[in-house]
Amino acid sequence: MYDYDMLVIGSGPSGRRAAVQSAKLGKSVLVVEKGRRVGGVSVHTGTIPSKTLRETVLNLSGWRERGFYGRSYRVKQDIGAGDLMARLQKTLDHEVEVLEHQFSRNTVRTARGEARFISPHEIEITAESGERRVVSSAHVLIACGTRPFRPDYVPFNDTTVFDSDEIIELPRLPRSLTVIGAGVIGVEYATIFSALDVAVTLIEPRTTFLDFIDKELIDEFMHELRDRNVALRLGAAVNSIEVAENGRITTKLADGRLVSSEMLLFAAGRVGATDRLNLDAAGLKVDHRGRITVNPATLQTDVPHIYAAGDVIGFPSLASTSMEQGRVAACHAFGLDPPPPPEYFPYGIYSVPEISTTGLTEEEVRKKGIPYEVGIARFRETSRGHIMGLNSGIMKMIFSTKTRRLLGVHILGEGATELIHIGQAVLNLKGTIDYFIENTFNYPTLAEAYKIAGLDAWNRMGR
Ligand SMILES: Cc1cc2nc3c(=O)[nH]c(=O)nc-3n(C[C@H](O)[C@H](O)[C@H](O)COP(=O)(O)OP(=O)(O)OC[C@H]3O[C@@H](n4cnc5c(N)ncnc54)[C@H](O)[C@@H]3O)c2cc1C
Repeated sequence: MYDYDMLVIGSGPSGRRAAVQSAKLGKSVLVVEKGRRVGGVSVHTGTIPSKTLRETVLNLSGWRERGFYGRSYRVKQDIGAGDLMARLQKTLDHEVEVLEHQFSRNTVRTARGEARFISPHEIEITAESGERRVVSSAHVLIACGTRPFRPDYVPFNDTTVFDSDEIIELPRLPRSLTVIGAGVIGVEYATIFSALDVAVTLIEPRTTFLDFIDKELIDEFMHELRDRNVALRLGAAVNSIEVAENGRITTKLADGRLVSSEMLLFAAGRVGATDRLNLDAAGLKVDHRGRITVNPATLQTDVPHIYAAGDVIGFPSLASTSMEQGRVAACHAFGLDPPPPPEYFPYGIYSVPEISTTGLTEEEVRKKGIPYEVGIARFRETSRGHIMGLNSGIMKMIFSTKTRRLLGVHILGEGATELIHIGQAVLNLKGTIDYFIENTFNYPTLAEAYKIAGLDAWNRMGR
């Protein structure tokens, strides 16, 4: 009756996973992607490019070795935009190849063009040439993601004032950079550029930032940023941004202060890419940020055969969680019960230094009134930390003193986004402090910090 069992709009992490899962269930699937290549924001402008850029910066700047050889240590003296781009292109090509292969192996069909609804089961696809065709599908997944929020007062110009999608194609490296928005993306780019010795000013209208992270970690993080001359302007709303004839950018803050820089990155928020989907024809509405509301258990929209997943449904807007949402949507569409989602998932912030966290923060534990104890380990206390020349890095674990269960793990420093998974496993398996006390960890590793932090809490908790 329909051309396809599942039609997916967008080939980012949620669309990709839903398409492959549907195909594995023997269903016919079409993925419509308006971009030049499959992969979505995640592969082309978001996760992969920013992390590749970070890795390149850390390698070429010799960042990881500076603990030993001093702050002036560099692997490459003059790092240019070309150095940063070279690795990026290779990584992206590889990611796209893997994805195309995955689609063809699983007989997922793809169509290049822009999708819009013309009825709840019919989608019109407009190719770049302007050619149009209509296909029908029993189920539809909206996985169109988001695009950067671009308010009128920001003079974007492709050469010195960028949004977070454009910054990866930077024509040259600036000597100074203003970053507006201390969300995950703003913080990541601010610290990556700072590692390249660019003078960075990070502006945030609120007085706090990354509020979902444990406050003690953020305090430590701020200390590190200040120590290496990142200027933090918190509680500072932007009144105007002007580009002078000589190219210099002046950002006027509401408190009267001026910030002058060679380049500016505006990274204050993203909006759902739903405005061209003609959602009215499907009977769907969006919120003020272009996002679609779904049933979180099934990912169904108000129209039961239409699902939405990934960044277009809002929080937590991560590639990792988007993939899982795509799988859940596909399983539900074809009558398969997916396992319930784990209670806690990890957050990774690939700033320099990186931050990762899972479970409850100390503030949340207090609010819930749970009696608790905290264990802290500094990476410099581990032998691996000495070998690596680490001067910073902290792990904080929180345990219930009543049940001895692990409640949260918060890590700032080298390897945080990998280390967190040990804590995540113990947390989701409802493990206690005894796991960390009784088990042996490889030596010398940074993972030993788990034992040190566990013992630190245990010493104060008693037996
Ligand atoms: C700078 C940056 C860094 C990030 N870093 C991380 C990270 O380190 N870790 C992490 O987990 N997450 C990270 N994220 C978030 C991650 O990229 C997103 O959560 C993820 O990409 C969302 O996936 P999605 O399935 O919503 O699709 P997206 O990746 O958003 O892709 C959507 C696709 O839909 C296509 N599309 C839109 N409209 C249409 C239409 N009408 N017709 C056809 N195609 C359409 C678009 O062209 C796009 O290709 C980062 C994001 C950014 C911006």
